[in-house]
Formats: sequence, C-alpha cells, structure tokens
Amino acid sequence: MKLYKIKKSNIDRNGRGLYATKNIKAGTKIIEYVGNIITKKQTENSDKFDNSKPIYLFNLNKRYDLDGDVSWNTARLINHSCSNNSEYDGTGLKIWVVSKKEIKKGEEITCDYGFGYDSDYRQFPCKCKSTNCCGYIVRTESRWRINKKFKKNTRISR
Ligand SMILES: [Zn+2]
Repeated sequence: MKLYKIKKSNIDRNGRGLYATKNIKAGTKIIEYVGNIITKKQTENSDKFDNSKPIYLFNLNKRYDLDGDVSWNTARLINHSCSNNSEYDGTGLKIWVVSKKEIKKGEEITCDYGFGYDSDYRQFPCKCKSTNCCGYIVRTESRWRINKKFKKNTRISR
C-alpha cells in the first residue's frame, strides 16, 4: 500500500496535494522525486526555468540538475509549507521525499521548496496557514529576511 494518495489540496486551492494514507514515522521514504536528469548547460539554455517553473528544478551536483516537471512525477504535487513535515533528501542522482517528523493519517504531506531570497519572491505567495507562515514561499534560512522586511515596511507606513 502506498503511503500517500492524491487529493484536492487545502493549501493550494486550485491544485492537488499528497495526503498520508496511514501514520508515517519520521525518517520514512515516502515517494521518490523523479524526472529528467539534465546538464547545467541544458538548464541554462532552456527558457523553461526562468522563474516560471523553478519549483520543479533540483540541483543534483556540479554537472546535473533534475527537471521534475513531468507528468509521471507524482511528487511534484507536494505543496510547500512553512512548517513542512517532509523534506527532499538527495543521494547520488536520486531524490526522495522523506518525513522529518511523524505524519498522521490524513495529513497533507508538505515540503520546504527552498527558494532563495531574491527580488522575485513576491511571485510565490504562500497560503499554508501555519502560525509561522511568512506569506511567501521562501526557504527557512531565508525567511527571517522577509520578516525583517515586513517589520521595516510596517514601521515606514506608520
Ligand atoms: Zn507558509
């Protein structure tokens, strides 16, 4: 039995997400993140990745990236959450979605998309509704910068 099923998402109202079909222990490989392995040069030369679909692109190593924007990659349906219960774990040329804490049956499986902080972050609003949600899809390490910015903006507007 698969550990996940596809369902309409609570986070992405227009899309689908993956939901746990049973209780999943921390450290469990839930699903492999599959796709086409392409060279960095192919990534650079392709206009597919110029911010419209960066969420599906993974850095595998110095030479290769993984393009997960393919119909047979079910793991691409996993949504981002600021309090994600799973994470992407790469070994060699493989990427797995691994639970980082216990996931209860029926919970949506979520990851941290790990976007860097740059001027384009406003393109990707986050609707995960976590108490620590910063409003945008930005990796944990970069999120404080946005919070800082928000505080700054608030001060200016007062
Ligand atoms: Zn969020």
